[in-house]
Amino acid sequence: MENEAQPELKGVYISTYGCQMNVNDTERMYSLLEMDNYTPVTSADQARTIIINSCSVREKPVHKVRSEVGRYRKLKDQYPDLKIGVAGCVAQQEKAKLLKDIPMLDFVIGTDNIDELPKVLNEVKSENEKKVQAKFDHQSAYSVETLIRNPGIASFVNIAKGCDNFCTFCVVPFTRGRERSRTLQEVVADVQKLTERGVKEVTLLGQNVNSYLSSCEGNFAHLLKAVSEQTDIERIRYTTSHPKDFNEELVDVMNSHNAKVCEYIHLPVQSGNTEILARMNRGYSREDYLKKVDMIFKGLPNAVLSTDIIVGFPGETEAAFEDTLSLLDEVRYETIYAFKYSPRPFTKAARFTDQVPEQVKKDRLQRLFDKHNALAFDYAKDYENKVLEILVEEFNDGVCRGRSTQNKVVHFKSDLPHIGEKVMVKINTAFPQTLRGEKV
Ligand code: SF4
Repeated sequence: MENEAQPELKGVYISTYGCQMNVNDTERMYSLLEMDNYTPVTSADQARTIIINSCSVREKPVHKVRSEVGRYRKLKDQYPDLKIGVAGCVAQQEKAKLLKDIPMLDFVIGTDNIDELPKVLNEVKSENEKKVQAKFDHQSAYSVETLIRNPGIASFVNIAKGCDNFCTFCVVPFTRGRERSRTLQEVVADVQKLTERGVKEVTLLGQNVNSYLSSCEGNFAHLLKAVSEQTDIERIRYTTSHPKDFNEELVDVMNSHNAKVCEYIHLPVQSGNTEILARMNRGYSREDYLKKVDMIFKGLPNAVLSTDIIVGFPGETEAAFEDTLSLLDEVRYETIYAFKYSPRPFTKAARFTDQVPEQVKKDRLQRLFDKHNALAFDYAKDYENKVLEILVEEFNDGVCRGRSTQNKVVHFKSDLPHIGEKVMVKINTAFPQTLRGEKV
């Protein structure tokens, strides 16, 4: 032991699962702890505090937390003052139950309590007692400054949190609480501050961004316009939008501010069958969705769409699944994110009795990917010989990597790093997710 490096007394390591919200929350936790004299470290064995920022969207979430905690048993034996906590959606969902189920845990911090983390952790350490802080704050306005230790070229900015939609498959309303929006002026000031730290592109983030509503200051279209007009940011993206809240006003703002607002739209459909959509409580039919897609392409002819799809939702027949397959012929999705349905605690769909057998779900998922892969390959070919504007984010071994306004990853050779610059690139070779080209 004598020659082994000891973990730093205030070293903190966070392992992160799940969506961009969690990635953002991890960065916030590191920033808050750093302000409290903790030192972020890059591996668990360098830390005396370990936090698992958990996700409850995939299968067996508690089991995943338990097995990660189990991996730290040796460390805990070696350093009895090592504190292990859980944050994120599993923490919010299970609260004190997690401490009972996983005795090695020292604290649980909910999704609405991140700013209390330094206080909770200091109490855990000084009082040597287990703590749970996982209460939703329904009273205060949602006000939060983006905390990023080393902002790069592109940054995420939370504009709203929570969700009121209660899709019958989704646990988010239970783990992230009711929807609340930051004020428009706070978001604008936050984005401007990031630009002053070198950020060129922001992605406005929320579980359901286009239902953003700032008390007396406006809706999401107004926010997009304000961020575009009142800040020096060069590119704006947003995610995730809900089809039922997508309106003409938003399309108009995207069109009139297209010098900054990227034409990439993630528009989760979930299913192509109206009956399944109703059982999912999505608030639109197949026809409604197709009308929204039409409206988008009329206003934004160069728009690029991606979507989320769930296969094997309870009650999904072969014919209903074929409606989802045929949607791929009707809507040009350059990217799809597709998953097999699996029940989540608290959700209505978990109690539906007509669950689809696992093998059927597996087969349908494969058929969906096969169909989309063939289409995506053709779509990619359309990029060949086109000239795209690339915002360069990385430079390694003479190759620049950046993204186009369509959110395509583009690589091109260069003598100069060009990081943070917009470079015009002619595409020579195109694959569904990556394009290669040369500077023009
Ligand atoms: S809109 Fe539906 S799927 Fe999206 S976060 Fe809300 S409840 Fe979940």
